Amino acid sequence: MPTSFYLNNFNSSTLTASPSDADSSAGATRGDCRELARSIGVLGIGLAAGLTAAHNLRSMGPCPWCSATTRGSADRRPPIGITADDGGWRCFACGNGGDAWSLALRLFAKGPASSGTTDPALYRSLVAADGRAAVCYMARAEWKYPTRDEVLDLWNAASPVAEDGSASAWLMSRSLDPGAVDAAGLARALGHEALPGWAASGGRSWTDTDHRLLVPLFTAEGEMASVQARTVGPEATRPKALYPAGYRASWLVMADATGVAMLRGHSVSDLVIVEGIPDFLTAATRWGRPGTAILGISSGSWSPEIASRVPDGVPVYLRVHSDATGNAYAAMIHRTLADRCPVFRPVSG
Ligand SMILES: [Zn+2]
Repeated sequence: MPTSFYLNNFNSSTLTASPSDADSSAGATRGDCRELARSIGVLGIGLAAGLTAAHNLRSMGPCPWCSATTRGSADRRPPIGITADDGGWRCFACGNGGDAWSLALRLFAKGPASSGTTDPALYRSLVAADGRAAVCYMARAEWKYPTRDEVLDLWNAASPVAEDGSASAWLMSRSLDPGAVDAAGLARALGHEALPGWAASGGRSWTDTDHRLLVPLFTAEGEMASVQARTVGPEATRPKALYPAGYRASWLVMADATGVAMLRGHSVSDLVIVEGIPDFLTAATRWGRPGTAILGISSGSWSPEIASRVPDGVPVYLRVHSDATGNAYAAMIHRTLADRCPVFRPVSG
């Protein structure tokens, strides 16, 4: 009912001016998208993504950042408050907030990544058909992985972990052999090389926050598309691992050489899937047998595309944690693989 009320009042005539002004060779720009999102408004973006509005259409939920469904135990309204002009929003549960475009990026960018996304003809046709579809499409397009050259440059400029005192100390505190990590090419240590702008968190570079242990992340096709940066400083440091700021981190896995080969289409004898950087490095340096592929996952890593790279019939051993997160990973992997592969999860996992 609130949805139809709102959409009937949706004025699509205001949406065509901006994109048709765009240079037809350059395609739609980020400014076009933000402007289009602004003209649709926070409420329209949220409703288009399936959020529920209440409280005279001034509150929405659940929050796409923290998943809260209410503002708190005392205030049962949906968590996201919408400004009177419909141009801004804030979650009262987690404090995230922004404009209509920032909400669109978060809500829609989780879908499959698109390519060729600045095609001006497609953009105009989407705007003509439905402004919300265009915003959804552009938001998906914008949430990309970092530039491949920047990722490879950073990786190549970083040092062997055995040459870095604090990285070595952190590895040895986890009973990991820095030399073995280097020999397998599993991680590198950031020194004081110039970092790309995305190698930062809260305005501080990964070097400054001591997130200096780099672990490559691979796409379903086995291409290095990003990195994860693990803190090697005091354990109290939060968060323990960071991803490139402003870029997509989902649908990427850590992989040893056999894991990368499997993603690239080679056959393997079996597959071990572990959770988190320490367990990945442990598995990849200590459990390796010829033909055994090892993948490391974190929140958002696993995807149907990655599952599709596991050859039919290959035994899959899950070594995820025995907690709610580990159980969720196990259920997801089981769902995407169990009809083709035997999936085992040791009780002590
Ligand atoms: Zn929130």
